[in-house]
Amino acid sequence: MIWYPYQQMKTMRQPLKITDAEGVYLYTRDRKLIDSVSSWWCVIHGYKHPALNEAVKSQTDRFSHVMLGGLTHDPALALSQKLESFLPGDLNYHFFSDSGSVAVEVALKMALQFYTNQGIRRDTILALTNAYHGDTFKAMEVGDDEDYHFAFSEKKGVVHIPTEIPALEEAFLTYHDRLTCLIVEPLLQGAGGMLMYDISFLKRARQLCDQYNVLLIFDEVATGFGRTGNRFVADLVCPDILVLGKALTGGYIGHALTAANEKVFRGFYDDEDRHALMHGPTFMGNALACSVALKSIELFENENYMEKIRKITEITRREMAGFSDPRIKEIRIMGGCICIEVYDAKTLEGFQQFAYMRGVFSRPFLTFLYAMVPYIIEEEELVTVLETMKAWFRQ
Ligand SMILES: *Cc1c(COP(=O)(O)O)cnc(C)c1O
Repeated sequence: MIWYPYQQMKTMRQPLKITDAEGVYLYTRDRKLIDSVSSWWCVIHGYKHPALNEAVKSQTDRFSHVMLGGLTHDPALALSQKLESFLPGDLNYHFFSDSGSVAVEVALKMALQFYTNQGIRRDTILALTNAYHGDTFKAMEVGDDEDYHFAFSEKKGVVHIPTEIPALEEAFLTYHDRLTCLIVEPLLQGAGGMLMYDISFLKRARQLCDQYNVLLIFDEVATGFGRTGNRFVADLVCPDILVLGKALTGGYIGHALTAANEKVFRGFYDDEDRHALMHGPTFMGNALACSVALKSIELFENENYMEKIRKITEITRREMAGFSDPRIKEIRIMGGCICIEVYDAKTLEGFQQFAYMRGVFSRPFLTFLYAMVPYIIEEEELVTVLETMKAWFRQ
């Protein structure tokens, strides 16, 4: 049988069986549901997109996969070349992997080895409270979410700080000569509860990282490709290492990217074999994933996605204006993300079924009721999602 994620298998509700999916809709045998979660935030163009389907099909007819060990191929080369102009700054060195968690591992490994290659001993990582960076072990350590990883709470060499400038400055004063990197989910902390914070924190972080020669890592696995209302937060403040995943392939195939800048790459580039980056996921640079990622980026650029996202933000603000309820702690809106945080998780019990009856698929967690819709959603469909959220509190 399937062992499902984040579930007590003994008490789990039967998952919905999906038989088809197209645009923003998931189809069960007898229902049609707007996917307000975009399949864990990755299906930005909706399901069964003709251009993305075609990208996968045509590459399948050539080859689906060859390894990057000693080999290379056009889909990976073309994607890397596209990323050179598409990504900000000099994030021109592209390490591919098969999932966001692994791409985070690679970023942390780069940061650590960047210093050991220079004979500098540093052993501490600065991260944020409520951070989520994936479920592999180092990613769990830099994460700070007991609700996900309570069984593994021992932290070695990781310091967590809140998203407040005084705490940031104090951490640099105390730990600067031991820090390899500061890793953050910029502006929007997703799985930690859709927490939003100000760009001034990241600007100060960039200054301090420069001052103390500490690498700045942006985990934009969730925030990349417009989710915060910026193409990338890295467009506003440029990190040394950028991690992308989720929407990279438009949600078609698991793939991720760790993009390093010139400075980081130079830390590995010399005549010493042992200064090489020793990592190589079997499926890195998978040809189907690269082909569909390239097509996804073209759609994102050519079909005015930033405008679509602006429209989503505008409609969301309009629909939520003036809405409140004593059970609600805060309503947060940023780009293509809305979160209603309640005081008590019990308030959301039954919402999933309630939404299902109204034609919406939703998956609240803990005290967070949220939507991260596919960007191709129509106004009327988005209003249905938001009305459903409001109706739950009004009944
Ligand atoms: C989802 C997520 C990850 C992990 O990505 P996977 O592909 O699930 O391994 C890492 N960082 C952030 C910010 C995420 O949202």
